[in-house]
Amino acid sequence: MRDPFGRTVDYLRVSVTDRCDFRCVYCMSEDMTFLPKQDLLTLEEMDRLCSAFVDKGVRKLRLTGGEPLVRKNIMWLIERLGRHLETGALDELTLTTNGSQLSRFAPNLARAGVRRINVSLDTLKPQKFADITRWGRLPQVLEGLQAAKSAGLAIKINTVALKGINDDELETMVAWCADEGFDLTFIEVMPMGTIMDDSGADDSGRAGQFISLETVREQLSARWTLAETSFRSAGPARYFSVGETGQRLGFITPLSHNFCELCNRVRLTCTGMLYMCLGQDDSADLRAVLRESESDKPLSDAIDRAIALKPKGHDFQVGPGAAAAVSRHMSVTGG
Ligand code: SAM
Ligand code: SF4
Repeated sequence: MRDPFGRTVDYLRVSVTDRCDFRCVYCMSEDMTFLPKQDLLTLEEMDRLCSAFVDKGVRKLRLTGGEPLVRKNIMWLIERLGRHLETGALDELTLTTNGSQLSRFAPNLARAGVRRINVSLDTLKPQKFADITRWGRLPQVLEGLQAAKSAGLAIKINTVALKGINDDELETMVAWCADEGFDLTFIEVMPMGTIMDDSGADDSGRAGQFISLETVREQLSARWTLAETSFRSAGPARYFSVGETGQRLGFITPLSHNFCELCNRVRLTCTGMLYMCLGQDDSADLRAVLRESESDKPLSDAIDRAIALKPKGHDFQVGPGAAAAVSRHMSVTGG
């Protein structure tokens, strides 16, 4: 699939649920209202939709959420999608997870053909972890990570850099990931969704939590030798190698750098809305098309029409007074 700006779209990210067992402060409010179950695509419908995208040339599928591993029977979907790996139609089936359920799922994921996973982890301090995730407990995630490692899954840690919260720990994260054999990517906090603080006021804290990864990189350079590499994942990250450890370190900087010219992805929500850009509201309702016909032709045509609407780039802004660029939460599209 090719969009109007000549970019090949071969990567689909699917949010399989908007629910989560954590309530990370930058992602959700504590009392989230989740979608009614009847609005969700069934797992069979998700399989049909994902398979339609694979037929149209998608080579990489990432399941996300919400927390993908809290969706009931999620292994059924993952095993079904695994058939596209076997036929060679798909290069990669992967997921982004908070790690809380990995102890239970890691061996099954490996059996289904998953080779690599991204695990979000912002701190190695138990109290801070509980403060950031509100409902999460660090030991559970660390156990999950060990289970994933034992199952042979390659692991990339995603860490959101938060000023005044974990910016004193980012160096430690680099060293810890090197010891564990994990890749690491830092992410800038993005202004998505309106999150109320305890007083009910609009959360203005998040703009204050923003720290440019340029600053982070400068700080890390005091201890580590960072060399920019030519490695690109066709995604928003720039990669550096750490001289002392040899590990790969990614920086996702949607705000201080625009990465849109290389964008190869679209995002499907758990209700079947296709978003052509994380930072724009353009979307297409594929659920309606899916349910209207048993034939996949109308679906295929609707996907073509949607790709033709993929915008050139996002409109994120940061700094005092910057409004959320899009009103939906990150858990709708899964990052
Ligand atoms: N629950 C899974 C997890 O946490 O990995 C998958 C979904 S989560 C929405 C995907 C990623 O988005 C996580 O790495 C999380 O840290 C990141 N994220 C959530 N809200 C964000 C925000 N406002 N800015 C930047 N990253 C955010
Ligand atoms: Fe849940 Fe992931 Fe959002 Fe945290 S970032 S609340 S784990 S969906």
